[in-house]
Amino acid sequence: MVTLLGRGFVFFGKPCIRMPKTYWGYTALIYDYCIVGAGILGISTAYQLINKYPKAKIILIEKEKQVAIHQTGRNSGVVHAGIYYKSGSLKSSFCIQGLRETYQFAEQHSIPFKKIGKFIVATNDQESSVLEKLYQNRKDELNLKLLSKSQVSSIEPNLRSSTAILSPETGIIDWQKFAQTVLKIAIDRGVKLLTNAYVTHIDESSICVEITTLNNVKKIHTKKLICCAGLHSDRLMKLSGLQSDVRIIPFKGTYFYLNKDKSNLFKKLIYPTPNLDTPFLGIHFTKHINGSISVGPSASLSFTREGYNGLQLNVKDTIDIFFYKGFWKFLMNQKKFIVNEAMIAFSKKLYLDQCKKFYNGLSLSDIHYSKCGIRAQAVDRDGNFVHDFLFAETEKILHVLNAPSPAATSCFPIAEYILKKAS
Ligand SMILES: Cc1cc2nc3c(=O)[nH]c(=O)nc-3n(C[C@H](O)[C@H](O)[C@H](O)COP(=O)(O)OP(=O)(O)OC[C@H]3O[C@@H](n4cnc5c(N)ncnc54)[C@H](O)[C@@H]3O)c2cc1C
Repeated sequence: MVTLLGRGFVFFGKPCIRMPKTYWGYTALIYDYCIVGAGILGISTAYQLINKYPKAKIILIEKEKQVAIHQTGRNSGVVHAGIYYKSGSLKSSFCIQGLRETYQFAEQHSIPFKKIGKFIVATNDQESSVLEKLYQNRKDELNLKLLSKSQVSSIEPNLRSSTAILSPETGIIDWQKFAQTVLKIAIDRGVKLLTNAYVTHIDESSICVEITTLNNVKKIHTKKLICCAGLHSDRLMKLSGLQSDVRIIPFKGTYFYLNKDKSNLFKKLIYPTPNLDTPFLGIHFTKHINGSISVGPSASLSFTREGYNGLQLNVKDTIDIFFYKGFWKFLMNQKKFIVNEAMIAFSKKLYLDQCKKFYNGLSLSDIHYSKCGIRAQAVDRDGNFVHDFLFAETEKILHVLNAPSPAATSCFPIAEYILKKAS
């Protein structure tokens, strides 16, 4: 539902602290909360806000015609258990809590999900020792099991592995459907949604924040602004006059799907041993709610933030990357990783080789291009990945600056965190 704001709505909300201004004949509206970005984080934040403050005037602004079509609509669809993240980090605690809250919400609102469990697989001795460490760090907290080769084979006869961690809590869900359900409830409870509204200016004064959007003649006024702009989070921060120490570098993840006759290859999700120097989990086999299996995603540098089709190049995005000093340091720091991922992205055969590590019987005709998603990953000025979730704030504005995976799983705890900060 799109709520059109205009003359009919004259002066919505609590009385403005200053006299309502008139812009081109439209009376200014004052909201208690304005949220930019209708991905899963903006939507969850709107939902938590309206639950906590049922009388608050809340507006959610989205630049696209539809909601949840960027990262939220283009991911693996996994409910993560929190295995990879440093104990004590926001990612770790939000993910663990988020998994519980996700299953609870999905159950209450009849959103299909399955707690099918996942294997993180070692295929050689070196990987086995990485897994052993990972297991020791988190085994009790997350109810993990470390299985021998024969134990793994008894569950997954097709899987090549030496050892594997079993995470029984990990599951699958359609995150876009999840976000749409949360949004519907938020709208029913009073949140206004404004789509097709690209935020171009943010002006914070001592009284309120003024937001200008493309295509909408009116300006929006709010007491608090929360920006959950995903791939554009650093740009929104810049718009609001804040200097950022990080920049979003887009990483494209390409997925293939397996032929139908291979859809019973594995019972559980199959993940490789992670390279913990990067925030990416490696090409994995993911069963989906509809029964299909996808493999992916890769993690190649992308020179466009929303270029999902072929080799698109966006000049603004490319300039932003090239003029960022941190990017050149990042290239030096992560040379090997970047080159490997670029090669995998360009060669279906190399992509297949990643899959064959787990099942040798696959051929090129067994995998077909499915889709891609682009991750918003913050990189700092020293060229390092920002591993944890990152926020920035002024008196009236809060920015979610870095919220890559597992931010879908963590959406409710992130929203609760935002509420505490913004209330
Ligand atoms: C390939 C891939 C696989 C992933 N797998 C998983 C997984 O299995 N499990 C998991 O938990 N997480 C996963 N993630 C991470 C998860 O999908 C994201 O962390 C999460 O969707 C981020 O949500 P968001 O709301 O911050 O961003 P988004 O969904 O990208 O939403 C941001 C919104 O802001 C809007 N916006 C931006 N700028 C403006 C502007 N100027 N004006 C108005 N609107 C604006 C955009 O149009 C967009 O709709 C994955 C991500 C990717 C890309």
